[in-house]
Parts: sequence; structure tokens; C-alpha cells
Amino acid sequence: MLESNEVSTLSQDPLIDLLACPKCRGTLERVEQPEGFVCKACSLHYAVEDGLPNMLVDDAKHWPLSDGAQ
Ligand SMILES: [Zn+2]
Repeated sequence: MLESNEVSTLSQDPLIDLLACPKCRGTLERVEQPEGFVCKACSLHYAVEDGLPNMLVDDAKHWPLSDGAQ
């Protein structure tokens, strides 16, 4: 169950509030490995490089990343 009554005021990462998927305008989800933002709707990962998100669709990677680990 989700508690949604206090999520709007204090965001851990204000950056993500400014970001939307450039392809679908959908909500992005922050991920750690690799650092970046994921659009679940498009299955794309936008990398954060030197602290700046690279929001170019052309540079986005397919998500989940396939590294051959499985
Ligand atoms: Zn998207």
C-alpha cells in the first residue's frame, strides 16, 4: 500500500521534479546503477554524466540494461 499524503513537499531529489521523459513526457525514476533516470513507459535509461542528466533520446539506453550477467 502506498502512503501518498506527504510525498509532495519534500523531495529527496529536486532535480527529478524538473525532469520528464523527452520522448513521452512521462515520469522518470531515479536509478543508481548506472546512475541515471529511467522511463518505464519507454524502457529507456538516461544516464547522469558528471552530475548532469543526459536527456537525449538518441543517447538513452534500453532499460533494463542487458550486460550479459544472466
Ligand atoms: Zn518515456
